Amino acid sequence: MAANNGCIDGDNAGFLSAFPHFATDAIHAGQDPEQWNSKAVIPPISLATTFKQKAPGQHSGFEYSRAGNPTRNCLEECFAALENGKYGLTFSSGLAATDTITKLLQQGDHIVSMDDVYGGTNRYFRRVASRNGIETSFVDCTDAANVAAAIKPNTKLVWIETPTNPTLRVVDIQAVADVVKGRDIILVADNTFMSSYFQRPLDHGADIAFHSVTKYMNGHSDVVMGAVVTNRDDIHEKLRFLQYAVGAVPAPFDCFLVNRGLKTLAVRMKQHYQNGLAVAKFLESHPCVIHSFYPGLPSHPSYPVMQKQATGCSGMVTFRIKGGVECASKFLQYLKIFTLAESLGGIESLAEIPGLMTHMSVPKEDRDKLGIHDDLIRLSCGIEETSDLIADLDQGLKKAVPEELRK
Ligand SMILES: *Cc1c(COP(=O)(O)O)cnc(C)c1O
Repeated sequence: MAANNGCIDGDNAGFLSAFPHFATDAIHAGQDPEQWNSKAVIPPISLATTFKQKAPGQHSGFEYSRAGNPTRNCLEECFAALENGKYGLTFSSGLAATDTITKLLQQGDHIVSMDDVYGGTNRYFRRVASRNGIETSFVDCTDAANVAAAIKPNTKLVWIETPTNPTLRVVDIQAVADVVKGRDIILVADNTFMSSYFQRPLDHGADIAFHSVTKYMNGHSDVVMGAVVTNRDDIHEKLRFLQYAVGAVPAPFDCFLVNRGLKTLAVRMKQHYQNGLAVAKFLESHPCVIHSFYPGLPSHPSYPVMQKQATGCSGMVTFRIKGGVECASKFLQYLKIFTLAESLGGIESLAEIPGLMTHMSVPKEDRDKLGIHDDLIRLSCGIEETSDLIADLDQGLKKAVPEELRK
């Protein structure tokens, strides 16, 4: 059996080996107590907006908090370590990071985006970037040939997300990187659904690893934040300038909370994986379910790609319920442990209908094409007891789906 992250013996054989020192870095990277006069073991929250200078223009590393903040800086260093990258930058939300990355482009440039991206990313490219003269082609990047075919002379950015939201399709990061290589194009991989614990896009040729920190990285559903990590000096320099010049920076208190969240990332992700896998196996054979999707199971068509680029799989599971949108909505209201709410990646389990909630902004005809049907339910399995989650889903399904529809 392949070395694995030790989370569920036998179930993730064939995946990449766990990243060395991950849990240690999550707790210590960027957090050395020697950097504070107080030697505090946990990075202090530095609320000051400005810092005393010795002489005009002579500061001791910090001048104004938008440009750099002690609490934020240690968090950014930790992000870089967790993505196996050189530079980390944080933003006031995932979409603020998307906006800042897109500002690397100019009027007349072109973006190739995965068709099945996060609804807000889709909306940003279609309705905001377009107004600044930046056009986006949405293509199915699960086949890298589609990316190659969509690239134009003015393409400057390729944006992928894997697994995708909400249909959990998998993009081969290295295959897309091979297409982009040698051209003046930046490849961004949205790693939100996996967290750095399970996947490191930079290792597979991406130029930027992107996170909605709001989800797994913070993991406690109490902070909205974005992060990007890169190895490229040129990209980092430009993004750091934009972070400062545009100003979509996170607050120090939020940086403290995320720092704290990261310390348990490794243990949380193991439990998310265990619960996601158990729920996916349960749904796979349930009579009230039309079809379920979980890229951590061999039944998923992209399982081999997942094994090649990830150390395991997260707690995101989607499925189509029998009985249409009516049964789907009843089911969500019958759940007792899963909360009916948007978002994902927190310790508490959540359930939603993407077609009516998170992905409403994706045009209906596009939703149909992508398989975001109104009976598609997205689960974010938290870290509660596995058997409680399964019992909750089972009672909800049995109450919502009439007897005659089951087989
Ligand atoms: C939530 C999310 C975003 C946007 O991040 P915010 O922090 O909500 O701005 C981007 N990508 C994915 C995959 C997400 O789930």
